[in-house]
Formats: sequence, structure tokens, C-alpha cells
Amino acid sequence: MAKLDWITEELNELKEKGLYVKIRVLQSAQGPWVVVDGKKVLNMCSNNYLGLAAHPKIKEAAIRAILDYGVGAGAVRTIAGTMELHVELEEKLAKFKKREAAILFQSGYNANLGAISTLIKKGEDGVFVSEELNHASIIDGMRLSGAPKVIYKHLDMEDLKKKLEEVKDKKKKLIVTDGVFSMDGDLAPLPEIAELAEQYDAMVYVDDAHGEGVLGEHGRGIVDHFKLHNRVDFEMGTLSKAFGVIGGYVAGPEEAIDYLRQRGRPFLFSSALNPPDVAAAIASVEILQKSDELVKKLWDNTHFLQKGLRDLGYDLGNTKHPITPVMLYDEKLAQEFSRRLYDEYNIFAQAIVYPTVPLGTARIRLEPSAAHTKEDLQYVIDAFEDLGKKTGFLK
Ligand SMILES: *Cc1c(COP(=O)(O)O)cnc(C)c1O
Repeated sequence: MAKLDWITEELNELKEKGLYVKIRVLQSAQGPWVVVDGKKVLNMCSNNYLGLAAHPKIKEAAIRAILDYGVGAGAVRTIAGTMELHVELEEKLAKFKKREAAILFQSGYNANLGAISTLIKKGEDGVFVSEELNHASIIDGMRLSGAPKVIYKHLDMEDLKKKLEEVKDKKKKLIVTDGVFSMDGDLAPLPEIAELAEQYDAMVYVDDAHGEGVLGEHGRGIVDHFKLHNRVDFEMGTLSKAFGVIGGYVAGPEEAIDYLRQRGRPFLFSSALNPPDVAAAIASVEILQKSDELVKKLWDNTHFLQKGLRDLGYDLGNTKHPITPVMLYDEKLAQEFSRRLYDEYNIFAQAIVYPTVPLGTARIRLEPSAAHTKEDLQYVIDAFEDLGKKTGFLK
């Protein structure tokens, strides 16, 4: 069909530029070792930080919920889709985050879309003050809103102050930032952001997708890590990363969450999370509420891996998190490393290159989890030593 020829052209262009993504298929459960295309490989690129995605307690909770409540929620939350499980999870999340209330969405992406587009709307006397490297879902939330935005430079508090000064007469101002930046593992300077927000009477919204289950006591997240409870208005989180399931949420003041329940578009116009997913997420939150053992194991593994790689001479940038960017700088070299790790060492690790990160900052991003053993991680370190020497990158 000639009218679809443009798709062939666009796909060819992606392939020519090396931007066409080959999607690998897992034939086993998510975990430290996975079977991909018939081959068992060491998984160093999933966000399953605590190994909960296939945890026996989580699986049991999901199975029990199917028997009690079925598989589908059957409607949007505001019509007939709110089950007691949804309410229970919202209450448990609010308690875990030490906030008054929480609202669930179908994913972290939907949480950002729904909350951000509702907090400031087009035509109001308001503006988003957004960090330069924010996640795509935050950017899409601002787009859905249509309200104006100003962008401040990555981690640059002088620039944030300058931008707040420019918009200080607006009635509503929302500072919105990732808590942990997913390509580098660096953290937003939340104490300074909270301080500036108070000075300029701005609301603060933090996306804690990578902080959840990782930072703070028992993995309560970045706000707990910095002890800023109630000085950050909105804490968005995902249930798909450390919590190992699916879903997203926003925690904050009771009335604000009530407002999001009335106006958040994905909450109103897309069906509720399924009962087994909600029950599994409840079990995940309960595991973390009870014990910080997995979080401690994750950090122990992280320190082990990062020390081993640094000792070899690798630059890991400014990471303060299990996200471990092994800097190779050159795009072609990073692609070659990723391919050879997979082909020659059975290590599944992703190359991150331009345009996801700036030119000349290509890297392999490793993500250790609590489910890896020290032997697994030593194997990765040894592979990086071997391959680093073979390619001439390590002298
Ligand atoms: C993964 C991620 C999201 C989206 O979460 P999902 O639950 O996967 O939709 C949002 N923000 C950030 C920073 C993320 O890393």
C-alpha cells in the first residue's frame, strides 16, 4: 500500500542511524539469570532491584487474589473498578511513605501523566519549573497539560533560583524533578530544592521511580533519604521497579490526592489495575515494611560491584545508586562491549548511547540487584577486566 510507504522509509532511516531497537525475548521469569533466545545469561539490566518480581510471597499473593477476586477489575476506578484491594494498597503505600494519602495509577508513566497534567492546567496562571534531564513521562505530563514550562539545568541550583525568580509572580509554580537520574544514578539535590521552593512559594513534585525500594530506611525513597517528609508535596512512585509488579502512584496531602481522584485523566479514563497485580504489590510493600534485609543486600552488592570496577580503573561517573554507568565514552566501543559481553561472556547489559545521553558519553549501564550473588558480580568484574584489556580500553 503506497500510503504506508512512509513507514518503511522511517524504519529504514532508524536502521541506517543505528537507532532501531532489537527487542530481546525472555523465556524465563525475571531474575539474576534469565533465558534469552534459548541462552542462559546473567541479567545486569533490569530494574528488579530487590528481586521481588518472582519472589514466592509475591507470586502466592497474586494467585490468591485471582481465586478471590478474579483477573480483571472490570471498570475505571470512578465507576465500578475500585475494589477493597485498591484501597488497601493506597493506604499501605501512604503509610510506607509516611504521607497522608496515596492514589494508584496503572503505571508510573500514567501517574506522571495524570498528576502533572492536573496540578497545573492550560490557561491557568501557572508554570512548570522542570529539570533538564527529567524522564519522558514527566515531559509528556507537561505536554498533556499544555501549561507553560521553564527548564533549569541539570542539578544546577543557581539556575533553578534564576528560573524561579523569572516566574515568581505566577500564582501556581510546580518544581518537578526525577529523584534519581536513570542514566547516571546521580541524585536531585532535594534539600536545596525544598529550600528554594519554600522561598518562592512553589510546589515540589519528585519522581521517585528509582529511589523506591533503594534509598532511605527500608527503601522508603529519596524524600526519606534526605529526611524531607512533608517538605516535598508530591512523591510519585512506580510499583514496577523495586516493588517488582506493575502500577504507579502519587503520595501526598489528603486533599491534594482527593483532587487527583476527581481530575487525573488516566484514573478517570483507563481501567483500574488488576486484582492479582494489586495483591502482589501489597505483598511487596509488606515485605519492605517488615524488613530492610533486601535493601541492605542490594547496597552490599552495589558497593561490591562498583568497588571492583573502580579498582580496575573504570570511571563510574557520579553515581550514588545501584545504577552503575561504566563510562566508555565512544559510541562504537560501547556497542561493541555490549555485544561481546553477551556473545562471549553471557552477560546481558545494555549500551546507552546518543541520543539517550550526550555524544562522547556512551556507557554500559549495569544494574545489580539483591538477588545477585557475589559470585555473579565477581564474574561481571572479571569479564570487564578481560574485555577491557582485549579491546585496549584498559591499559
Ligand atoms: C520507569 C520510570 C517511570 C515509569 O514507570 P512505569 O511504572 O514503568 O510506567 C517514570 N519515571 C521514571 C524516572 C522512570 O524511571
